[in-house]
Amino acid sequence: MKIAVLSRNPRLYSTRRLVEAGQQRGHEMQVIDTLRAYMNIASHKPQIHYRGQALEGFDAVIPRIGASVTFYGCAVLRQFEMMGVYPLNESVAISRSRDKLRALQLLSRKGIGLPVTGFAHSPDDIPDLIQMVGGAPLVIKVLEGTQGMGVVLAETHKAAESVIEAFLGLKQDIMVQEYIQEAGGADIRCFVVGDKVIAAMKRQAKAGEFRSNLHRGGSASLIKITPEERMTAVRAARVMGLNVAGVDILRSNHGPLVMEVNSSPGLEGIETTTGKDVAGMIIQYLEKNAEPGQTRTKGRG
Ligand code: ADP
Repeated sequence: MKIAVLSRNPRLYSTRRLVEAGQQRGHEMQVIDTLRAYMNIASHKPQIHYRGQALEGFDAVIPRIGASVTFYGCAVLRQFEMMGVYPLNESVAISRSRDKLRALQLLSRKGIGLPVTGFAHSPDDIPDLIQMVGGAPLVIKVLEGTQGMGVVLAETHKAAESVIEAFLGLKQDIMVQEYIQEAGGADIRCFVVGDKVIAAMKRQAKAGEFRSNLHRGGSASLIKITPEERMTAVRAARVMGLNVAGVDILRSNHGPLVMEVNSSPGLEGIETTTGKDVAGMIIQYLEKNAEPGQTRTKGRG
C-alpha cells in the first residue's frame, strides 16, 4: 500500500515509528507536512497539492494532527477522504473528540461513565454550577488545554469561585468537574485499535501533583486493566467514531470514568512502557481495513 502520514514533523517519535513499521511491512510511506498541503476544492476532481505536485495513488492516510492545527488538519484529511483515501481516523471523528465538551456530551448520551461535569458562561451562575458538580474540591479545565495545562484543582469553595471567575473574566471557556480523589493522582491510558485495547499503561502524578500527564512529570508503568475498563475504553472510542484512540480513564469508587478520548495518541510512552509494537498494530489495522473509496462516517454528531 501507499500510505500518507499527515504530520508536522517527520522526526517525532510517533511519526518515525509509523513510517518504520509501514516500511518493515513492505509499504510505501510518505510523511506530509499538514500545513504544507494545499487543496483545490472547486474542481470536480478533488486534489491535494504538496510542494508543487498533486498527491496521487494513496490507499490510506494516518492523521497525526496536533491540537493547534485541528481546523486546517481536518480540512486536509477531509480532502483525502473525498479522494477516496482510507483514513485511519476520520476527520469528523477527530473534530468531535477535539471538542472536549461535545465529546463528553456524546459519551454521556451513550451511558459511558464520566466525572460529573458542568459548564457555564455567565459568572452569575457560578455558585449553582459549583453546587451542581458536588462542591469543592473540584477540577476546573480550560476547554482548549492540552498536556495538563489549564487544569486546576480548587480545594475549597472560595478557591473554586475565584478561579472560575478569573477564567470567565478572561473569556476562557471552562468546564468544572468533580474531583476523583480516590484515583490518587493516577489515570490509565488505554490504547484502542479497532475493537480492542491493544496496550495500557498507568500514569502516576509526581508527589504533590494531581495531574498524571507525562509532560507534568508523571511516570508510566504497566497495568492490568479490568474487563469493565477494557469495555469502557472500546465503547468510548466507538462512540467517538475513532478506529485508533487513546482513552484516558480514572479509577473511581463507582467504576471507570472516561476523562478524555484522544484521536492522535502518542506512541512513545505506550511503546516504551509496554514493549509492544503499537505502530505495527496500527499498520496491520490499515492492511485489514483500507480499501480505496471506503470512507464513511461511522459515528454521529
Ligand atoms: P489534558 O487533556 O490537558 O491532559 P486532562 O483532562 O487529561 O487534561 O487532565 C490532566 C490530568 O489531571 C489527568 O491526566 C488526571 O491525572 C488529572 N485529572 C483530570 N481531571 C480529573 C478529575 N476530575 N479528577 C481527578 N483527577 C483529574
